[in-house]
Amino acid sequence: MEEQVRQIFLAAGADVCGLAAAEALDTAPDGFRPGDIWPQCRSLIVFGLANPKGLTRTDPRLVYGTFNAMCARRVDEIAFAAARRMEAELGCIAIPLPCDGPYDAWIPEKLEGRGMLSMKHAAVAAGLGQLGKNTLLLNRKFGNRLSVGVVLTDLTLAGDAPAPGVCISGCRKCLDACPVGALDGSHACQLSCRPNAYSTNARGFDVVDCNRCRAVCPMADGRG
Ligand code: SF4
Ligand code: SF4
Repeated sequence: MEEQVRQIFLAAGADVCGLAAAEALDTAPDGFRPGDIWPQCRSLIVFGLANPKGLTRTDPRLVYGTFNAMCARRVDEIAFAAARRMEAELGCIAIPLPCDGPYDAWIPEKLEGRGMLSMKHAAVAAGLGQLGKNTLLLNRKFGNRLSVGVVLTDLTLAGDAPAPGVCISGCRKCLDACPVGALDGSHACQLSCRPNAYSTNARGFDVVDCNRCRAVCPMADGRG
């Protein structure tokens, strides 16, 4: 059953797919656990779609922002298509979650947003990687280029083993590169990061002004 589920997501376009028991996210804050979204949830299917390496080779304003946003929409499409196929072929219930937005949890004084479920912590729980000191998911093959999606299911699936970390011991390139000191090695201060990273240009387009903590990482591309 586990391989059948995994193949559905890979066939839908995912680059990587891992599985985790719902309880693997029991340490998440109240309201942000799989069971808070759906009490019948038994397992999570967590998958990733990689951006091209080239997105971090140029000024992020127009290129990275545009295609990273497109990648998130594509992740939602994969989650939707794979959930439909799971229900049709496996006789289960499958709930695709929005990978980036919308979400309701917003603390305006901290500029702090939180999705229905932490995609990167779900990815760690499903063996897709570990978090780097920049708090981004680091996958051995795809580096920090994965956008992550999650589908909840009532199927009981065996979880995947944790992935070894690939963040380099002693490295602090991402911490030193942040122009506003938003990173401390385990947390990203959204109040500092958001105004520096996101804006709208004179023409009215949304742009990404900063992705330095991602671009400077020696593991950004992964190990191929
Ligand atoms: S995106 Fe820019 S401002 Fe935000 S944490 Fe990374 S380096 Fe700092
Ligand atoms: S830049 Fe260095 S410290 Fe930061 S995530 Fe990458 S390898 Fe880890």
